[in-house]
Amino acid sequence: MKILVCVKQVPDTNEVKIDPVKGTLIRDGVPSILNPDDANALEAALAIKDSNPEAKVVVLTMGPPQANVMLRECLAMGADEAYLLSDRAFGGADTCATSTTIAAGIKKIGDVDIILAGRQAIDGDTAQVGPQVAQRLGLPVVTYVQDIQLKDDKVVVQRQMEDGYEVLEVQMPCLLTAVKELNEPRYMSIYGIVDAYKKEIPMWNHEDVALDPKDCGLKASPTQVFRSFTPPPKGKGEMLKGSVKEMASGLVSRLEEKHVI
Ligand SMILES: Cc1cc2nc3c(=O)[nH]c(=O)nc-3n(C[C@H](O)[C@H](O)[C@H](O)COP(=O)(O)OP(=O)(O)OC[C@H]3O[C@@H](n4cnc5c(N)ncnc54)[C@H](O)[C@@H]3O)c2cc1C
Repeated sequence: MKILVCVKQVPDTNEVKIDPVKGTLIRDGVPSILNPDDANALEAALAIKDSNPEAKVVVLTMGPPQANVMLRECLAMGADEAYLLSDRAFGGADTCATSTTIAAGIKKIGDVDIILAGRQAIDGDTAQVGPQVAQRLGLPVVTYVQDIQLKDDKVVVQRQMEDGYEVLEVQMPCLLTAVKELNEPRYMSIYGIVDAYKKEIPMWNHEDVALDPKDCGLKASPTQVFRSFTPPPKGKGEMLKGSVKEMASGLVSRLEEKHVI
């Protein structure tokens, strides 16, 4: 059994601050991390491997050469193989072009039974790449997965909903996107770290995954970021005055004005 996990290196958005004077994002010194939902996806794959020792866990990313560091972390957590899709032709990709490239990488790796991705990346924040990869590969997809059980050639999953969950059975090969409630990702082990630095990480360009440059990156992106800006800070808070009754009715009328209630 082969389980492939799509992993993305992202800036730790908890560390990104806004310059109070210029109103711009302060990116200096912001560490790059494994996208949190992807850590849950990888943990799910490793847990399957724990109980099925013949299973192989492969991680794949599209990104700049420095995404290697994150791939080594995944190897140190217990992944068996890692692949990096890196090429100038892949740059400036929106989710459509990103998923084309990732799907091409998965096709080259081949024979995958389960593909896991995070529900969402904390930088792009679209939650589109997982389902798009499934669509390009012609595979069934279940998003928001909070529990995974294997049953013969099927996977039984719980799909998180706003007010509960659905239990779905899906035929392998399939793609699942993970939410943080799925598990608690493990730490890298010392032996894992040592082994991770012995492993070779193949780096593939557009030719390696049989993609024409016009089918990847900015050229194949139907959307373009036209403008990006820091949202204006929220206005000052307002203290309501008067008796408890007056303050309560003042609060209600402000909530009504803003169509909150
Ligand atoms: C309109 C638009 C224009 C953009 N233009 C640019 C641009 O010019 N330059 C630029 O650098 N970026 C650009 N981006 C960002 C880029 O499209 C996204 O970083 C990328 O497509 C992934 O989308 P996401 O971050 O929303 O991931 P999501 O869809 O939220 O990610 C879901 C899951 O998919 C998997 N995944 C996502 N990305 C990768 C990856 N690269 N490798 C492996 N797995 C992955 C992970 O498992 C992740 O948890 C643009 C985004 C948009 C919406």
